[in-house]
Amino acid sequence: MNIIIFGPNGSGKGTQGALVKDKYNIAHIESGVIFREHIKNGTELGRKAKAYIDRGELVPDEITIPMVLETLKEKGSKGWLLDGFPRNMVQAQKLWEALQAAGMKLDCVIEILLPRETAKKRIMGRRLCAADNNHPNNIHIEAIKPAGNVCRVCGGALSARADDQDEDAINKRHDIYYNDVDGTLGAAYFYRDMAGAEGFKYIELDGSKPIPQIKEELLGRLG
Ligand code: AMP
Repeated sequence: MNIIIFGPNGSGKGTQGALVKDKYNIAHIESGVIFREHIKNGTELGRKAKAYIDRGELVPDEITIPMVLETLKEKGSKGWLLDGFPRNMVQAQKLWEALQAAGMKLDCVIEILLPRETAKKRIMGRRLCAADNNHPNNIHIEAIKPAGNVCRVCGGALSARADDQDEDAINKRHDIYYNDVDGTLGAAYFYRDMAGAEGFKYIELDGSKPIPQIKEELLGRLG
């Protein structure tokens, strides 16, 4: 099973991605994670990419595209879920060409839809529980609202991540995502428009619904 997942920061893409990966037991290939590993290991690629990542910009295609295609070849022989790539039109086209050249079939593209303002509010509403990282709290999501000022699960102290409160950084990332001409939505629509003719599924999910509902719909539609 070979799948691409699209969704803005704040849409629950990570949660749904993990679900898909577990269902099919496929390699989860996340471009952001690969970059962070390179930075941690002090590689030449990591050194080049870091400045762009720190500024919230896309790493240039000359670096990103070969890196991801290489990882697909290395780790993707039993199926893959591609997450965070493609992020623009050039990447979308290059990936498609590479899949054709390698005789790799694309089975499904998932797009999680969420209005830009909602995505921004959700990011800014995230709160971290001091006692347990896995206790989700968000002041803008009804189902996981904190209990007053403390964690809704355990009553632990809550704080907000500095980068979640940085509106400029959020806007910059969303400018890239919501660009439907040559940005990330443009890349998603590149696949949407050919899905029927090329014989793969294009699944649109309403990201404003509660997470369990989205999960159920996704599993149902994946078949
Ligand atoms: P992420 O973890 O997906 O939010 O990615 C973190 C950062 O890595 C992004 O802000 C970009 O600077 C860089 N990055 C990740 N994926 C890509 C991509 N497909 N193209 C260019 N830069 C990327």
